[in-house]
Amino acid sequence: MKLTPYWLDTAPDFTSGAVEQLPGKCDVAIIGGGLTGLAAALALARRGVDVVVLEAGKVVGAASGRNGGHCNNGLAHNVAGLAKTLGPDRARALYHAFDAAVDRVEQLVEEEAIDCSFRRSGKIKLAAKPRHYDDLVKTHELLSQDIDSDTELLPAAELEREVKSSQFHGGLLYRRSAMLHVGRFGIGLAEAASRQGARIFEQAEVSGLNRLAGTRYEVHCSRGTLRAEKVLVATGAETGDALPFFRRRIVPVGSFIIATEPLTSEQVDSIMPTRRTGVTTKNIGNYFRISPDDRLIFGGRARFALSSPDSDAKSGRILERTMLQIFPQLAGTEIAYCWGGLLDITTDRLPRAGQQDGLFYSMGYSGHGVQMSVYMGEVMAQAMAGEAAANPFRDLSWPPVPAPASSSWFLPLIGAYYRVLDYVR
Ligand SMILES: Cc1cc2nc3c(=O)[nH]c(=O)nc-3n(C[C@H](O)[C@H](O)[C@H](O)COP(=O)(O)OP(=O)(O)OC[C@H]3O[C@@H](n4cnc5c(N)ncnc54)[C@H](O)[C@@H]3O)c2cc1C
Repeated sequence: MKLTPYWLDTAPDFTSGAVEQLPGKCDVAIIGGGLTGLAAALALARRGVDVVVLEAGKVVGAASGRNGGHCNNGLAHNVAGLAKTLGPDRARALYHAFDAAVDRVEQLVEEEAIDCSFRRSGKIKLAAKPRHYDDLVKTHELLSQDIDSDTELLPAAELEREVKSSQFHGGLLYRRSAMLHVGRFGIGLAEAASRQGARIFEQAEVSGLNRLAGTRYEVHCSRGTLRAEKVLVATGAETGDALPFFRRRIVPVGSFIIATEPLTSEQVDSIMPTRRTGVTTKNIGNYFRISPDDRLIFGGRARFALSSPDSDAKSGRILERTMLQIFPQLAGTEIAYCWGGLLDITTDRLPRAGQQDGLFYSMGYSGHGVQMSVYMGEVMAQAMAGEAAANPFRDLSWPPVPAPASSSWFLPLIGAYYRVLDYVR
C-alpha cells in the first residue's frame, strides 16, 4: 500500500516551475500554490498582470491534491439552517455560488483543455439513519421551491439501483454535482498559469511580511525577498505563524482517504453502477466515488487527528473496516493507496474572503473547496485587478477561534462530541 495520494501519484509532474532567481518585485505575489492560488494566478496572468506564486512545498501538494475529487454543488450546511441564520436570500445566493463554482471548473477544464476526466456525475447524499431521510425530504422540499430543481429524492427502494448497500435509508440526488481527477486538474491549472506568464516558485516558503503602504508588501521567503503591489494569501489549512491573523481563524482538521486496487466493471456495478459521488449524512461521515481507472476512492474523518504517515495508516485501517460495512461485496479487495490531508475549517463552515491589513485572502472552504477555491481564486483576481468582483462571502464576521480549538489535543475531544451526536441523532 502506498502512503501517498492516488491523485498525485497518477498525475504528470509540474514541469514549468520557475527556476530563475526570485524577481525583486512584481505586481501580485500569491502565497500558496493550491487551487485558490493557481486559479488566481491564471486569471491575473491572462489579464497581463505580473504575478509570482510562492509555494512552500510543491504545487497542489497539500489539500488541493489530497482530497476526494468531488466537485459537488450544494452547501456544507443544511440550507434551512443557513436560511434561519443568514436569511433565505443570502442562503439561496450562497447555494447558487456553489453551482457557479462547479460551472466555472467545467469551463476552465474546457478553455485550457485540461485532461482530468471531469464529469457531471451527480452526487447522492445518503441517509445513514431513517430520521436522516426525513431531513432529506425537508431539504428536497425547500430546494425544489426555487433553489435547485435538479434534485431528486430517492427512497430506499429506488436508491438500490444507485448504491448497492444495506446501510442507507434513502438519498437525495444533486444532478449538478461533478467529479474530476484533481491531481491532473491541479497540475493542468499550474501549467496553464505558467503558459500565460505567471512565475510559480516551488520550495519557496514565506516566513514574514512587512507592510510598506496600503496593499504594498515586502515578502520574505526561503528563496529571497520581493516587493509586491498586492499580496493574495491562499494558504488554506497550512496557514502558519507567518500569517498570524489567519492562523488564529482557520482550524486544520485531518481527513483521510483509501483507494482500492482497480475493480472489475462487474465489481463497480455491484457497488455503485451509476458512478456518482456519495456522501453520508453523519457528522463523522464518509465520502466516496469511483476513480477514472475504476478504483473505489473512500474517505472520511475516521479519527480526529492530524495527518502524518503513521496517522494516515491508522485512519486507513478504520476506513477499510467502514468501507466493508457499507460494501461487504469488496471483501478481499486490496487497498492500494492511503493518505490524509488537512481541511481548512471555519467555525461556521463558511469560507472567508476579502481584505485584511491590505492583504487579499480566500480560505476556509471547510471540505467543499475543490470548486469554491477555483471560483474564489478568480473572484480575488478580479478584485486585485480593480474590477467589480462579486464575493459571495463578503461581510461575514470572522472572530478568532478560542486557542484550544486549533490545538491538536483538542481534536479528539471534538471527535468524541460528534460521535455522541451521531449516536443520539
Ligand atoms: C482529505 C481531504 C478531502 C477533501 N475532499 C474534498 C472533496 O472531495 N471535495 C471538495 O470540494 N473539497 C474537498 N476537500 C477540501 C479541498 O481540498 C480544499 O478546500 C481546497 O483544496 C483548498 O485549496 P487551497 O488552494 O485554498 O488550499 P491548499 O490546497 O491547502 O493550498 C495551500 C498551499 O499554501 C501553501 N502554503 C502555506 N503556507 C505557506 C507559506 N508560508 N509560504 C508558501 N506557501 C505556503 C501550502 O504548502 C499549500 O500548498 C478535501 C480536503 C482534504 C484534506
